[in-house]
Amino acid sequence: MTNVMHGTDITQIGNKLIRAKAKKVSNPTSKVIQTIIKDLVASMHTHELVGIAAPQIAKSVRVFITEIRKTQLRKGQSIKNVDPLRIFINPKVLSVSKEKTSGWEGCGSIAFAHLFGVTRRPASVTIEALDEKGKKFRLKAGGLLARVIQHEIDHLDGVVFTDKADASTYMSRDEYLKLRAKKKRKEPCAKSTGR
Ligand SMILES: [Zn+2]
Repeated sequence: MTNVMHGTDITQIGNKLIRAKAKKVSNPTSKVIQTIIKDLVASMHTHELVGIAAPQIAKSVRVFITEIRKTQLRKGQSIKNVDPLRIFINPKVLSVSKEKTSGWEGCGSIAFAHLFGVTRRPASVTIEALDEKGKKFRLKAGGLLARVIQHEIDHLDGVVFTDKADASTYMSRDEYLKLRAKKKRKEPCAKSTGR
């Protein structure tokens, strides 16, 4: 069944697609995949996210995108974190750092990004993927981009951040925004993401 998304709906936790292992893409340049990429970009922008994976728009294929920029939740985004739109097809993690960092995460598929929690992940990650033209590339990412990439790859395997977050840190979007406003300058490491 086709589920037409016009950058409006994001598949929510409870829907079986969020827990499914997404299928590998066999033809990255096909019209189907190109349309999914377009829909992902529209949804990411509509919902003010910095990354989104295909299962979140009800397409169970191994595609996700990232774009680290200023959003409603990330008004104080520092320029050093900004990263252009990237498209990842059939991503493969080649290595992760031993060093781990804790940072705030949210997710467009978890209560429409109204829940935030601290999640511990490797500080950097090296991945290989295909771009929208089907060309293979390798990327070593650190900082917020590394966090977003790992969060999105998890989506392709049916894993969400609440599986990994410290549940005692959970807070609502309103409380989270208050925290961000209060600690903006004091805790530059407290990363936030709506994804
Ligand atoms: Zn997410």
